[in-house]
Amino acid sequence: MKTTHVIIILGGGAAGLTVASGCAQLGMKTLLIEKSHMGGDCLHFGCVPSKTLLKSASLYHQLGEMEKYGLPLIDPNPVDLKKIMKRVSEVISTIAYHDSVERFEELGALVIMGTPRFLSPHEVNIDGKIFSGKKVVIATGSSPFIPDIQGLESIDFLTNQSIFNLTKLPSSLITIGGGPIGAELSQAFVRLGSSVTLLNRGKHILDREDEDMASLVEDQLKADGMDIENGVTLSGISQTGKMIQLDYIQKGEIHSLKGEKLLLAAGRQGNIHDLDLHKAGIVTQKSFIPVNNRLQTNLKHVYAIGDVNGQYLFTHVAGGEGSFVIRHAALGLPGTYSYSKTPWCTYTDPELASVGYNEKRAREAGLDYQVLNTGFHENDRAQAEGKTEGKIKILMDRKERLLGTQIAGYDGGNLILPSLYGMARKYKLMDILSPMLPYPTLGERQKKSAGSHYGPKLFNNRVKRILRLLYHYRG
Ligand SMILES: Cc1cc2nc3c(=O)[nH]c(=O)nc-3n(C[C@H](O)[C@H](O)[C@H](O)COP(=O)(O)OP(=O)(O)OC[C@H]3O[C@@H](n4cnc5c(N)ncnc54)[C@H](O)[C@@H]3O)c2cc1C
Repeated sequence: MKTTHVIIILGGGAAGLTVASGCAQLGMKTLLIEKSHMGGDCLHFGCVPSKTLLKSASLYHQLGEMEKYGLPLIDPNPVDLKKIMKRVSEVISTIAYHDSVERFEELGALVIMGTPRFLSPHEVNIDGKIFSGKKVVIATGSSPFIPDIQGLESIDFLTNQSIFNLTKLPSSLITIGGGPIGAELSQAFVRLGSSVTLLNRGKHILDREDEDMASLVEDQLKADGMDIENGVTLSGISQTGKMIQLDYIQKGEIHSLKGEKLLLAAGRQGNIHDLDLHKAGIVTQKSFIPVNNRLQTNLKHVYAIGDVNGQYLFTHVAGGEGSFVIRHAALGLPGTYSYSKTPWCTYTDPELASVGYNEKRAREAGLDYQVLNTGFHENDRAQAEGKTEGKIKILMDRKERLLGTQIAGYDGGNLILPSLYGMARKYKLMDILSPMLPYPTLGERQKKSAGSHYGPKLFNNRVKRILRLLYHYRG
């Protein structure tokens, strides 16, 4: 027997749930199929657990900073990871209702837990039942990429899917990968008391970012006690008793390293393998599904959104793409999806937030840009908070229109908001300078950056001469 739906959504993470919620509330016959966990990676193995863990790590780290604030020194007990992970799962459970089967059924969607397989461009099969959809949305997310390292197959390694199940703090942790996931989780563990070594293939960690910004994060991770080895090629891995041994080559020399646990954070791969995409004729590229600027696959009625299309692997992008599909596929509105103003943030301390062009991307695009750099230490509130490390970098074109902003510093993810709105509204630098802001706030930093650009232009000798001439000023 075959059931027909207006829209079938494969995957109940940030991308799929956005589409399911919108379509069901619009009264469309909506089928959502989820393989294992409603809420996806973000809720269970990603954003939510990692930020919750980072909070505990940050508080524990602050105990060591008491003297800096004129407070009595505190020498706390070692952490009990079991209790921290209990809080992590409590936070997940609290948020989970929002993404639950019950909630989506209340909204009007049919939710099926199972593994769908394409039979044809419009049909999927779940446990022998066939469902047909006028439109199909693939939103099956991504999983950790497992690098091909000799000996890895016999090692019990960790990924973001298993690390939150740990109940005992590892005495030592080796992380492979210096992207946002590797950097955040490594900082959490080093601050909780593990000895952490991060092995990174690139020249610096967070290699999507400009080196000067990424190095502000790298310096803090090192100050936390982490060993970071860049420019590393892994050559082999083995287990000796309870210890894992990793061999790697750096600057032509062979090195060995031992650790109790190994975390793989070496990139992501799309979850496409059990979908039988070939039966629908859907084209793939490496492990992702390429899409056009309407987020359609090579089949116009099939969309691929969220991590699985391999564009920008963030929850807010998955949500943004989901909203676009509601407009395009469900409401039939024209338009294209643009990533040009996509923000993101790495939630290390200091945070590193970005929107628009950084210098790397501006150079690649051949843009003529000017840069404005200002340090957090120039902000009164940052001084009071004791959070003076970091800087703001603003890129603009020769007409002073904003091209992008990067913020490495305390609360960078929130501080980027004015630039985000500014870019959305095609602001010039002057527009950031104009509004009055409450004093003392960290937000004043961007306004002061803009001020530092105009200061020399305003307070120059030519202006002074004109004022003297007009008003007969002396001195
Ligand atoms: C440790 C970590 C921290 C992160 N932190 C952040 C952060 O702070 N901010 C941020 O923006 N992003 C963060 N991310 C990225 C974010 O989690 C993803 O970008 C986001 O979850 C993508 O949403 P999605 O809907 O595409 O995929 P997912 O959330 O992974 O959802 C996909 C769903 O599809 C299901 N599925 C898989 N295969 C099938 C199948 N064959 N059939 C049916 N269902 C299937 C999965 O079970 C899953 O529920 C983090 C990721 C990790 C790993």
